[in-house]
Amino acid sequence: MKKISLLGATGSIGTQTVDIVRAHPEHFELSAISVGRNINEARKIIQQCKPALVSVMKKEDCLSLQAEFPSIRFVYGEEGLVEVATHPSTEVLVNAVLGSVGLTPTLEAIKMRKTIAIANKETLVTAGHLVMEAAKEYGADILPVDSEHSAIFQSLQGQDQKAIDRLILTASGGSFRDKTRAELQGVTVEDALNHPNWSMGAKITIDSATMMNKGLEVIEAHWLFDLPYEKIDVLLHKESIIHSMVEYSDTSVIAQLGTPDMRVPIQYALTYPKRMSLPNTKRLSLADIGQLHFAKMDEERFRCLAFAFEAGKAGGTLPTVLNAANEEAVQAFLDGHITFLQIEDVIEKAMNEHTVIQKPCLSTIKEVDLEAREFVRSAISR
Ligand code: NDP
Ligand code: MG
Repeated sequence: MKKISLLGATGSIGTQTVDIVRAHPEHFELSAISVGRNINEARKIIQQCKPALVSVMKKEDCLSLQAEFPSIRFVYGEEGLVEVATHPSTEVLVNAVLGSVGLTPTLEAIKMRKTIAIANKETLVTAGHLVMEAAKEYGADILPVDSEHSAIFQSLQGQDQKAIDRLILTASGGSFRDKTRAELQGVTVEDALNHPNWSMGAKITIDSATMMNKGLEVIEAHWLFDLPYEKIDVLLHKESIIHSMVEYSDTSVIAQLGTPDMRVPIQYALTYPKRMSLPNTKRLSLADIGQLHFAKMDEERFRCLAFAFEAGKAGGTLPTVLNAANEEAVQAFLDGHITFLQIEDVIEKAMNEHTVIQKPCLSTIKEVDLEAREFVRSAISR
């Protein structure tokens, strides 16, 4: 029986993780969960899975749920996330919370030698060096949940790690793949939320449309697989069937394929190195699909991808700024305060404004994260 702590249980990855746990009650148990503001969904998960500990965002929700479920312990806020991540009986932390708020709980769980199944890419982007250093120091495994990184991880199994020449991350292109920059002028939040292949949370769906998602994934891949940016490529592949690939020195390319279903990589992170059947999943039929398409990625069309490579290569605190500015800009777009193309503009401004600090410690990362958010908020309000 694997005992799991789940951050972000009410989200898109969170609820799919709950589905997997419930599909295999003989293998998995949820010991602790965190939720944000969605108390109705939280109540459902609490009734289904009966975790011992639940963290919510707001104190009021904590008090009311505590009265409702007296046998469960409720906590709240950022300390609550750390309590969930470090719950004593937990073996694996599934980090599916949104944003850089996931960093501290991840570091604390690593110190307790928990295995980390990481969906929360913002944590690796904002402070990948701290996460990977801590994982090495404490001997904690970091397993990818993001589908591209899971595909790469699967394509690395049993291979000569010294012979890796290149990682090829595939990108669906998001909601606006076929639009020119001129056509992006008037797009709405609703248009942007309409992803052709994947059903995901709002923030990552917008990130897919700006291509920042792929940019964040490039930085995520750099940290997870310890490879320089020169060895990480992005390839447009609109069907999202090949989830990513690894090219080796003898020119062999190994890929992982499947229908677009996040439950596959989530479950692989939980069962690794074993595999288990997955109920209600469509098998891949290449004969039905007929054709797969590929195209070179255009960094002028998708400026956020270029920003991410720039931030990753510069290193230090620039990826922290990229991530924080993006989180704020996407929220502002979702709230109707800026246009779609202004997301890129404010990120670029925040990056240009910043003086990079190399090898930042946790408190520097947190300061820079706050400063970048503040910069974006005031730039938008002007
Ligand atoms: P969602 O927006 O669907 O869910 C986010 C979860 O985090 C919810 O449980 C939400 O709570 C909670 N949350 C949000 N902000 C806070 C906060 N400040 N404090 C505490 N809890 C908070 O996101 P996704 O599931 O789509 O994505 C989660 C992570 O996984 C992201 O990092 C994303 O990039 C990554 N990812 C997602 C994929 C997908 O298919 N969705 C694929 C690959 C990676 P509530 O809803 O209760 O308010
Ligand atoms: Mg992905």
